[in-house]
Amino acid sequence: MEILHHGGRFSVTGSCHELRLDGELSVLIDCGLLQGTDAPSANEQQLDFDTQQIKALLITHCHLDHVGRLPWLLAAGFRGPIYCTQATATLLPLVMEDAVKVGITRQEHIIDGLLSILRRLLRPVPYDSWQDVFEGLSVRFRQAGHIIGSAYIECQLASRRVVFSGDIGCKNTSLLPDPTPLEYADLLLLESTYGDRLHENRSERQTQLRMIIERCVSDRGAVLIPAFSIGRTQELLYELEAIIYDLKQRNSAAQFPLVVLDSPLAARFTEKYRDLKALWDAEAKQRLSDGRHPLAFDELHVIEHHSQHEQLVHRLQSTAEPVIIIAAGGMCAGGRITNYLKALLPDPRTDILFVGYQAAGTPGRAIQQYGPNGGYVEIDQQRITIKAQIHTLSGYSAHADQAGLLDFIGSAGGAVAAVRLTHGEAAAQRELRRKIRERFDIPVD
Ligand SMILES: [Zn+2]
Repeated sequence: MEILHHGGRFSVTGSCHELRLDGELSVLIDCGLLQGTDAPSANEQQLDFDTQQIKALLITHCHLDHVGRLPWLLAAGFRGPIYCTQATATLLPLVMEDAVKVGITRQEHIIDGLLSILRRLLRPVPYDSWQDVFEGLSVRFRQAGHIIGSAYIECQLASRRVVFSGDIGCKNTSLLPDPTPLEYADLLLLESTYGDRLHENRSERQTQLRMIIERCVSDRGAVLIPAFSIGRTQELLYELEAIIYDLKQRNSAAQFPLVVLDSPLAARFTEKYRDLKALWDAEAKQRLSDGRHPLAFDELHVIEHHSQHEQLVHRLQSTAEPVIIIAAGGMCAGGRITNYLKALLPDPRTDILFVGYQAAGTPGRAIQQYGPNGGYVEIDQQRITIKAQIHTLSGYSAHADQAGLLDFIGSAGGAVAAVRLTHGEAAAQRELRRKIRERFDIPVD
């Protein structure tokens, strides 16, 4: 057995690993897009490895850094089965359609062609049940608690079990169940995005979010939240509904902020999240049965058309109203959020709230770094002065922190023989490696 890494070994994007058996048969685990400023553009990410021997693709979840090179895999002639959970199979065509449109081509016949191949190859499987991929390899998808449908994948070979973590979620994530405890692994390939950090806990996060929203209501300045379409956006909506619900209980006459989801794609995913409510955690299901609508509350408005988006940007620049905007892209490198940032970063009443990882070199990272000192950021070649308040709430990021990753290894009760770190920057991996050796005394590379 051999494991080759075609991306995401020492970086947080481009996750793509090949598990090769006997030299001739192999499976690919994820086929993610390289992102960040140093990455080639999406339409230049042809696969630079041989795909002839790849008999199947296993997908941990449908974030682009795990599935974004799938069009290139199909273009290279791959026609094997694509195994993933049922929820991932529901979301994946939407993700693919958008990824191809944004990054590769808008030609409808090519997109339709790719989607029909994709639908033909998809093999949705339930959680927790073993599937034979080919002789000598069975796989099982287990709850990863990262986004809806996310899984870590156990690969059972004749005499070894190799586990690919995908992205591991935090415990107590809104809407989602906790990751299933790990049974055992001869080798665990473990993501390490936040290997050197600890998140705020959920109640601290909620307190901070509530304070930001109360400030938004009192100073009538906008709150801008750059967010990815899948996962964080729905978690945030869930928490915003809870805060607004609470405000209403306490003072039904008060003014409540408007929550604007300015992303047609995020709105479509939110709809899917609502459809997939069978996968929500107990707390979220309880709210539903209490008659609340965590992902479709009264104050939530969706902006579809670009003209409405432009109108709102102009309106917020010239008026004062308590509005919370959630818009893509999550790292401020493109998408509708950039228009809000250009218009509202110079306004001291604005709050920018980061809820996800900001990769080095992105405008998001620059705002985080230089914003608090009254610096500036370059967006679309324009130099924008930052007078807004900058906040980072790391707990919404849907990736386990250092403690969560260590607990995940620990959940196997000592039955992890070796770990290989993936999906993390060098500093995070160094620190996590040290902690794993210290706590478990097992080999880590
Ligand atoms: Zn992810």
